[in-house]
Amino acid sequence: MTPQTAAAKTSAQPSNTQTTESNASPNEAWTREQVEQLFDLPLMDLLFKAQTVHRQHHDPNSVQLSSLLSIKTGACPEDCAYCPQSARYKTGLKTERLMPLDKIVEAAKVAKSNGAGRFCMGAAWRSPKDGDVEAVAEAVAAVKELGLETCATLGMLTPDQADKLQSSGLDYYNHNLDTSPEYYGEVITTRTYEDRLETLNNVRESGMKVCCGGIVGMGETQQDRVGLLTTLANLNPAPESVPINNLVKIPGTPLAELENIDSFDFIRTIAVARILMPTSYVRLSAGREEMNDEMQAMCFMAGANSLFYGEQLLTTGNATVNHDQHLFERLGINGQTKPANQNSSTTDGLAQQAQDQCGQGGCGCGPQ
Ligand code: SF4
Repeated sequence: MTPQTAAAKTSAQPSNTQTTESNASPNEAWTREQVEQLFDLPLMDLLFKAQTVHRQHHDPNSVQLSSLLSIKTGACPEDCAYCPQSARYKTGLKTERLMPLDKIVEAAKVAKSNGAGRFCMGAAWRSPKDGDVEAVAEAVAAVKELGLETCATLGMLTPDQADKLQSSGLDYYNHNLDTSPEYYGEVITTRTYEDRLETLNNVRESGMKVCCGGIVGMGETQQDRVGLLTTLANLNPAPESVPINNLVKIPGTPLAELENIDSFDFIRTIAVARILMPTSYVRLSAGREEMNDEMQAMCFMAGANSLFYGEQLLTTGNATVNHDQHLFERLGINGQTKPANQNSSTTDGLAQQAQDQCGQGGCGCGPQ
C-alpha cells in the first residue's frame, strides 16, 4: 500500500484545500506532500513558521500542565512494542488491579488541593468490559462532583461505552494513533490502525473531546512522522490535545535497544504538529526526563504548550517538579491549570500544581 493510499483510507482525509502558509485554518485537509515540505524546511524557517502560528492562537508564554493517575496497571494482552504494561514483555513492572473508587477520589482530592483543573485516569486494558466502564463511570462522576474536569484512557471503546462515559461526565478521552498507518504494523500486531480510528470516531460521536497523538523514536522514518501528523491533522475536527511522545526505552520491551532519535527531528515533529493543528494543545509527553533544558525550550519555541507534570507518568519517571519550576522561572513561562479558552485563571510558575489531562499510558496511548 502506498503512503498516499494508506492515508486516503483513514476516515478523515478530506479534499486537498490546504497550503503550507502559516496562517492556515484548522480542519482543512493537508496532503502528505505539503507536510513533507514543512519537514524539509531549514530548521530556523520551520521554527519561525511554527512560532508565528502559535502566537496567532495561544499565549506563547503559557504552558498547560498535565499529569496522570494509573488506575489499573500492567497485564495488558496487547503487544505494543514500546510498552512495559504489555503482559508479553518481562519488564519487572508491578501489576495492579483496578483501583477502588475511594482511592481514586482520594487522589483526585489531592490533585484538586494542588490546583488541578482536570484529573486523568489511565488503565491498561485492550478494551474495557462493560463492568469496567461502569466502575470508571462511577469514578468519573465522583471526580466530577469535586469540580474537576475529567479525562480517561482505557483502550478501545464501543459506541455504547463511549456514550456511557460521556454521560457520566467524562470530558476528554485519550487514544493515540502512535505512528503512521504504514509503520503501525511494525509496532503493534494485536489490533489495527482502523480499530484505533474507529474508537476515535466513537469518542467524537459521543460528544467527548479527543486527545490523540503519537510516539517518535520507534525506528520510524521521517515519512512515517509525515504520515502520523497528516492523519492526525486531517481528523475532522483535529484532536483538541496532541501528545507527542519521545520513546522511553524500557528494558525488556522490543524497542529497548533502538538508537535515540536526533533531537532536532523531535523538535521538527513538534513544530510541524503546531502548524498543522494551530488551535490544539501540543503536549510534550513521555521522554521529557531525558531532554535537557535547552531542548525543552526549543520545543516550546516550536509550539509545544502542554506538558506532563509530576515525577511519575503511568509507569515511567518524569522530570522533577522542582526542576520544572526552575525551568519555567528561567524561561518566564506560566503554568496553566486549564486551557486558556476554558478558564482565564492561570498560575504563576508552578506554585499551584496542576494535575491536568492525560495523553499516554494504558491502551494504545503511548508510553509508559
Ligand atoms: S500501550 Fe496500552 S494497549 Fe498497548 S500494551 Fe500498553 S497498556 Fe496495552
